[in-house]
Amino acid sequence: MVDIVRTRIALREAVASWRKDGLTIALVPTMGALHEGHLDLVRAAKHRADRVVTSIFVNPAQFAAHEDLSRYPRDEARDAALLEAVGCDLIYAPEVAEIYPDGFATQVGVRGVTARLEGAFRPHFFAGVATVVAKLFIQAQPDFAFFGEKDWQQLQVVRTLTRDLNLPLEILGIPTRREADGLAMSSRNAYLSAVEREVAPALKAALDHIFEATQAPSADMHLVMQQATQGLLDAGFASVDYIEACHAYTLEPWKAGDPARILGAAWLGKTRLIDNRG
Ligand code: AMP
Repeated sequence: MVDIVRTRIALREAVASWRKDGLTIALVPTMGALHEGHLDLVRAAKHRADRVVTSIFVNPAQFAAHEDLSRYPRDEARDAALLEAVGCDLIYAPEVAEIYPDGFATQVGVRGVTARLEGAFRPHFFAGVATVVAKLFIQAQPDFAFFGEKDWQQLQVVRTLTRDLNLPLEILGIPTRREADGLAMSSRNAYLSAVEREVAPALKAALDHIFEATQAPSADMHLVMQQATQGLLDAGFASVDYIEACHAYTLEPWKAGDPARILGAAWLGKTRLIDNRG
């Protein structure tokens, strides 16, 4: 079975011994509750690097007090079996105190790409992500790190922090793995009731509709986005945090001629789904 280490010292030892042998290393950061989307990242990492480390850490710093930290799904034995099957070489599964020991006082903040969308609705979120990602990069010292396009804004945040801090690794983004009906795979899909699960693909359909409008020069984008929001509510979503066409890399509101990315976040009952497409 694939080895699991829980301390940064043990992680460093494993990585150092691979480096001594001249091997390259990829890191795949996750919060566990793995699905095929996560496994696509590991497969791509395996293809690119000699050794792959997958971290499993449900990062408290990226959850607000009212969010789902305590009920976030956890099943380490299942995750380890899935990772073993796709050839992951090492699992790094630290306790919270290993990452945030008493007295921990530092926060990594990224401006600009965090200002809107998820950043507006979850103000603590990207600082939590940037801080833990910076720590994981420093602890694992990988040559490559793999992230999903499923969390498109997060991918831009990670690229920005890696560039701005001159971190010596390459960031690779991997396309979103979807269910047959279009729903993006997510650990949070496990929260959906049978009825909610039927409604859930409407989010991807709404993104598609807006994307098509960005390709039609005369479309009234404001109206299209309003209609998409109403369509989600009519389909059974409880509320829509945002659904909007953006510049794919700055995440500013989209203008004709910009590379387009459509991003959405909406509540289905008590579950918040996010998705995007380009
Ligand atoms: P999470 O465990 O949700 O924090 O996700 C860990 C990594 O897997 C992140 O880089 C996500 O963007 C990526 N990921 C999550 N869901 C998918 C998916 N459906 N397809 C591809 N990557 C994904």
